[in-house]
Amino acid sequence: RSKWKRVVGVLEELEATCDTPLRRLRQVVDAMAVEMHAGLASEGGSKLKMLLTYVDNLPNGSEIGTFYALDLGGTNFRVLRVPLGGQRSLTLKHDVERQPIPQNLMTGTREGLFDFIASSLKEFVEKTDDPDELAPRRKELGFTFSFPVKQTSASSGVLIKWTKGFSIEDMVGRDAAESLQQAIDRIGLGLRVSVLINDTVGTLAVGHYQDPDTVAAVIIGTGSNACYVERTDAIIKCQGLCTTSGSMVINMEWGNFWSSHLPRTTYDIDLDADSPNPSDQGFEKMISGMYLGDIVRRVILRISQESDVFGPASTRLSMPFKLRTPMMAAMHEDSSPELTEVARIFEDILEITDIPLKVRKLVVKICDIVTRRAARLAAAGIVGILKKIGRDGTSGIAGGRSRADVKPRRTVVAIEGGLYTSYTIFREYLHEALVEILGEEIAPHVILKPTEDGSGIGAALLAASYSSYD
Ligand code: ADP
Repeated sequence: RSKWKRVVGVLEELEATCDTPLRRLRQVVDAMAVEMHAGLASEGGSKLKMLLTYVDNLPNGSEIGTFYALDLGGTNFRVLRVPLGGQRSLTLKHDVERQPIPQNLMTGTREGLFDFIASSLKEFVEKTDDPDELAPRRKELGFTFSFPVKQTSASSGVLIKWTKGFSIEDMVGRDAAESLQQAIDRIGLGLRVSVLINDTVGTLAVGHYQDPDTVAAVIIGTGSNACYVERTDAIIKCQGLCTTSGSMVINMEWGNFWSSHLPRTTYDIDLDADSPNPSDQGFEKMISGMYLGDIVRRVILRISQESDVFGPASTRLSMPFKLRTPMMAAMHEDSSPELTEVARIFEDILEITDIPLKVRKLVVKICDIVTRRAARLAAAGIVGILKKIGRDGTSGIAGGRSRADVKPRRTVVAIEGGLYTSYTIFREYLHEALVEILGEEIAPHVILKPTEDGSGIGAALLAASYSSYD
């Protein structure tokens, strides 16, 4: 009574609905480029918010001085000190300190939170200060504030709403950089908050500092987002209010991208319905680390309901997010002949024992299908950005020129996030799809460059390129 046929049926259906042949990826590329246009045309013109950052001046390696950063975006915050010598270097020496935010401050008052942060900053600055350094000038800091913000300049922006467990009512609608600056001033620390950014912009800054051909940045970690450098005249919604320089970094908030061309399964629909933000972050729910493990869990749950291949019902299997993406990756990358890692994780995490080898192989296959789809869709998203800025190798053709006339330009995309850096098969599928979509001719000119700590170091680099002392 194994009902193996049914199991195979569920798997085949999953495989078919997650399928991402090249033609479908191209549709996603086009949809991404179209939505980018729409989001730039008007406020609310697309599910892609295409937020203005007012950042038009990316670091290029020539920066000199010591700069600070504050990275606030979760239950911890970090403070950094980054000395820059004017010589571009791939590994940036820096001091860093991480601190948890006391629970009561996450739901208290604006002053309570920022006074706490400012006093930690003061302590850090005093501790790391180099007495030999010639620094009579005021210190400068870049602030990475990873919450939804409406920017009003590169150094100011108001909080739209809190996420991730924060709830400080008197902060909503207030300027995040100003709130920090006031706390810093109250404590008598001579530090100027010179930029307010989102973490993807920090990643772009690190990429651009190391390699000036960097035009975009992508984060695929717990969540997913991207930003890129856009020509000012293509940003219709800013109607002359924008900078005088020719370009500006746009924070896409691409996690919220949606298109009918995305291959959606019943598992995705259920996951979305059960989430605290239904119909939001649709792309993120298909590609990022927060969700992949849970999609796999849902498939396994369905199979366990339709057959007895996973033995008696396990309550663990019904618990949302019980199977985390790193565990899924460990099963996927289990290279032992008996798939002992799969067996171990099933026992430890899901309390399911004695699953036969052929069922373990089935589990690996499920992980493969879910990750392959995620990686290929992420690749299509990246090519969508390249298409929008004319770097995907197709732009000359519409103008009547042949492909041979268009000399491909070297194009670098900075990339960060645990899913990309730690999940090898995901990364390989992403690269493979990128080459498939771009073609052998263009692909060698597009470089994905892993960067590190954009949200920390990137903010310090931007503080440097926005320094008021040149
Ligand atoms: P965050 O996005 O939370 O700021 P990271 O960029 O480090 O931080 O990403 C962490 C996320 O990456 C985790 O939530 C997890 O989903 C994913 N991740 C981390 N390690 C692995 C791994 N070995 N395999 C697969 N996914 C991983």
